[in-house]
Amino acid sequence: MISVATLGSHCALQVLKGAKDEGLKTILVCEKRREKLYRRFQFIDELILVNSFSEILDQRCQSTLEKNNAVMIPHGTLIAQMTSEQIESIKTPIFGNKWILRWESDREMKEKLMREANLPVPKPVTNPKDINNLVIVKRQGAAGGKGYFMAANEQDYNKKRNQLILDGIISKDETLYIQEYAAGVLAYLQFFYSPLKKEVEFFGVDQRHESDIEGLARIPSEQQLKNNKVPSFNVIGNSPLVLRESLLDEVYTMGENFVEASKRLVAPGMNGPFCIEGVYDENAKFTSFEFSARIVAGTNIYMDGSPYYSLLFNEQMSMGKRIAREIKLADTSNQLDMVTT
Ligand code: ATP
Repeated sequence: MISVATLGSHCALQVLKGAKDEGLKTILVCEKRREKLYRRFQFIDELILVNSFSEILDQRCQSTLEKNNAVMIPHGTLIAQMTSEQIESIKTPIFGNKWILRWESDREMKEKLMREANLPVPKPVTNPKDINNLVIVKRQGAAGGKGYFMAANEQDYNKKRNQLILDGIISKDETLYIQEYAAGVLAYLQFFYSPLKKEVEFFGVDQRHESDIEGLARIPSEQQLKNNKVPSFNVIGNSPLVLRESLLDEVYTMGENFVEASKRLVAPGMNGPFCIEGVYDENAKFTSFEFSARIVAGTNIYMDGSPYYSLLFNEQMSMGKRIAREIKLADTSNQLDMVTT
């Protein structure tokens, strides 16, 4: 029998619950410090205890996963804690496309794929001297917004960068990535592409709540001006959003363009869950600053099914369950290699 495995963090509960609901065995690679938390959940069949997640590369973990016919579901923690080389060297079949995860972590590759997909991206600023409008300054990789800051001009940029170096949040030789700040309503568009059905499904939308930029917006301007701390974009949680129905057609087009572009640039393409992240401006024009080439934690808000999936499935369908359904279908039709890498 096939089993589903993932790392104990991010959206592990949703993924394993979905797999269990589909009748698959569930395995959690779990840090010892989190054992107590994950033992609370009956749908987790087996725990592989580790001191750190990089131990999934060890023989002990790999052979347990192999013995169980496991498919590994990648999520944000895998990307945040392991290098692209490490992820690519995992022997266990990875759901989706493990080669595209590198494109998510590397800023230049990310921008290339987004342009190929025709996504409207914010203008990058290559030299701090050229900062004329409000910009956001980011670190490499999925830092979850930690250490990001806004700047209005070169002087402002240098002041804030120096402050973050002093605070030990960024290092002196770290290459920072600057792009124009896009103001509007945040929308993180969640999709699933089924290589078996050859179809893009729109799953849902979430908004991220980020500290302490949101905290700052809740205090009067007088106190804001007195505050010298550089605000950050550290994700704390997510909440649901539904879009004006008139925006849906364009949403599907963006998802389809992204899938097509991925097929051209990084075989076998964008299989499985992914997310296009951006903002809608006052003219309902979408600007995308980011994508995730795997399940996002924002899907956790729809563990009982999302509004848009209730239109496609006559049952409660979470993203975790959708993934397990695809694995099961691929397994029974001998096509597991189409949904894994
Ligand atoms: P993750 O991997 O968790 O998505 P990340 O480290 O790759 O995070 P981004 O998603 O690029 O970071 O940015 C973090 C946050 O900063 C976003 O959720 C958004 O609030 C804000 N942000 C990023 N880029 C822009 C932009 N160009 N304009 C406006 N806000 C932005």
